Amino acid sequence: MEAAASRNSVPPERARPFFAFVLAVITVAALLCVVPLARLPGQLPDLPAAFWVMAGLAVLVDARPFTPPGRRQSSAVFPSTCFSFAIMLGWGLAPAVAVQAAAVVVSSWRMRHAWWRAAFNIGQYALALSAAYAVSRLADLDTIGWGDVVVVAAAAAAWFLVKYGSVTVAVRLLFGGRWWATFRQGLPFELLSIGALLLLSPVMLAAAETSAALIPLALVPLYAVYRMARLSAEQEQLSRLDPLTGLANRKGLLGEVVDQLPAHAERGAHLALLVLDLDRFKHVNDALGHAVGDRLLVEVGGRLTGAVRPGDVVARLGGDEFAILAPRLTSVDDGRDLAARVVAALTQPVALDGLPLDVSGSVGVAVYPAHGEDFATLLRHADVAMYDAKHRGDTIAVYAPESDHNSPERLSLLADLRQALDCGPAGGDRQITMYYQPQIAIDTGEVVGVEALLRWRHPRHGMVDPEELIRVAEQSAVMRLLTRRVVDDVVEQVAKWSAAGLKLRAALNVSVRDLHDGEIADQIADRLARYALPAERLQLEITEGALMADPRRVLATIARLDKIGVAIALDDFGTGYSSMQHLRRLPLAEVKVDRSFVLGMSNDADDAAIVRSVIELAGALGLRVVAEGVEDERTWRLLHAAGCHVAQGWFYARPMPPDELVTWLARYRAINPNGPAT
Ligand code: C2E
Ligand code: MG
Ligand code: MG
Repeated sequence: MEAAASRNSVPPERARPFFAFVLAVITVAALLCVVPLARLPGQLPDLPAAFWVMAGLAVLVDARPFTPPGRRQSSAVFPSTCFSFAIMLGWGLAPAVAVQAAAVVVSSWRMRHAWWRAAFNIGQYALALSAAYAVSRLADLDTIGWGDVVVVAAAAAAWFLVKYGSVTVAVRLLFGGRWWATFRQGLPFELLSIGALLLLSPVMLAAAETSAALIPLALVPLYAVYRMARLSAEQEQLSRLDPLTGLANRKGLLGEVVDQLPAHAERGAHLALLVLDLDRFKHVNDALGHAVGDRLLVEVGGRLTGAVRPGDVVARLGGDEFAILAPRLTSVDDGRDLAARVVAALTQPVALDGLPLDVSGSVGVAVYPAHGEDFATLLRHADVAMYDAKHRGDTIAVYAPESDHNSPERLSLLADLRQALDCGPAGGDRQITMYYQPQIAIDTGEVVGVEALLRWRHPRHGMVDPEELIRVAEQSAVMRLLTRRVVDDVVEQVAKWSAAGLKLRAALNVSVRDLHDGEIADQIADRLARYALPAERLQLEITEGALMADPRRVLATIARLDKIGVAIALDDFGTGYSSMQHLRRLPLAEVKVDRSFVLGMSNDADDAAIVRSVIELAGALGLRVVAEGVEDERTWRLLHAAGCHVAQGWFYARPMPPDELVTWLARYRAINPNGPAT
């Protein structure tokens, strides 16, 4: 076992406590050993041949020390320990310290260690040998009995505790982290290898009593210990590698992150974890076979390694999923920049057997500490960001809690929602209800319809934000149940109004999931027939995002609804992607300008310009334009001037329960038969 780091360099901010500890170890060791060492020259002539054989072998066996790669608590195996411990038992502290020091000098020279590291190591050995020596003096090694063996074992334990303890302190001072975790790391390996070396010592010493010629025989078990250490270290390292690409695997990545986090915590630095998922890799595998798929993955691994900075770690998490760990960043933007480089590295297709294969993918970025403070959280959040990017048809996304639908709070909200829906519309406490907001023709002031908006009063959290609610539900099968309930509620309500002589058209919102199959069209047709309502009493609002997710299936459903006679409005217009195409190709009746533009139009010339052009465009295509989020008279006037058809917003009324709407309508018509602004 070797002092602390496998590198000679010490991070500047940790130098002070670390070197103070190094100095303390060297000083205490020097104080303990100076007197015995001073007497050593006089002792030398009396030392037997066995001592000299052991001393020679100690230096020899350490001349080729083995340091397992990649271990932080550097577990180099130094077989000299076996000889120096035996020398301590047989001839005292000073000869043992001197021989161990000589062995350290040789191994340090071979391993190119800095002089202070060599001195620190000698200091640690001297302390360990001193502790062991103090314990071993309780034994009588001339006539070894059972008790003496116990004492020797206790001396070995003292040696181990002092040496391993000082390495733990050094590692903790260098890298930070938790004490217990630092101590435990590598403990079983060290216990076995060091234990074997130390406990072989008394046996070798006893053999040496018979003949010094027996000592070299110990080289065979020493070699066995050496091989054991080497094999176990190599196996450990292999378990951290992906056999196909030679990159780190998930375990290797975990190890790296665990190593890096404490230092980042102390320096206030950022660390980014990127997750990359290739697009269409499955097709490559299916069409060209796994051998080609494997070669493609190796090539991608190579490109990623070429795109990152030195010190970044590229890992393959499995399948076509890769990860990159980028330490020492100054901001979240650095993480995004790296993601951009990664994406750029994959823009050129990979040529395999003369066939160009597209390897583009989506990258999710999570940055420590903003997006998580441990490996599991960072990885999960990078994953969420990656799916977010994929969902939006984008290549890069940085983690945003808003798009994370998997937090425990959300999962429990989903369970509550399902339960609330299971209670049914007649359930005693109606948690889920619909509010209605009037839509008013700007020209005439006539109420042309209402939009049905979902409200959920959670028994513990109170009112849940509908947008949040839909985001949570949309990820699950609960969305279907929710929409089914909305359709039932709204159709029933429209029928009630109709029966009371109130001919209102209600628009209801549907989500992406609802449009993936024809179920919603069937349900609507069924309910309209049941209440004998004409189809024009109902309108459906869909968002552009819904169209983007799976245009073909969504289009089929929309076409069926159109056939039934239910009009379709394109909601939140302006926030989506390929707006023009949709306007042209879909059987739309109405476009709803997103409220973000309408809210800003009285103060922001750009917003006003956007709203005006949408109105113009929709007008040219023969579509009705509804502006939502009309909060004040100035906005209303601007919309009026721009030729907008319908307005919806707090300027007229907020969404309200159905009974209130009836009262509101009566009042509105009494006060304002020709519109609010006249
Ligand atoms: P949306 O369909 O665009 O609905 C319009 C939103 O604008 C409503 O928010 C409404 O309350 C709000 N709003 C109306 N006038 C004003 C105004 O003057 N100022 C401001 N600041 N806001 C105004 P709400 O009710 O919070 O609903 C948010 C979103 O949740 C809806 O946006 C819709 O996408 C979704 N949603 C609501 N109910 C349902 C539903 O039953 N099913 C589905 N799938 N989605 C729904
Ligand atoms: Mg809407
Ligand atoms: Mg909207």
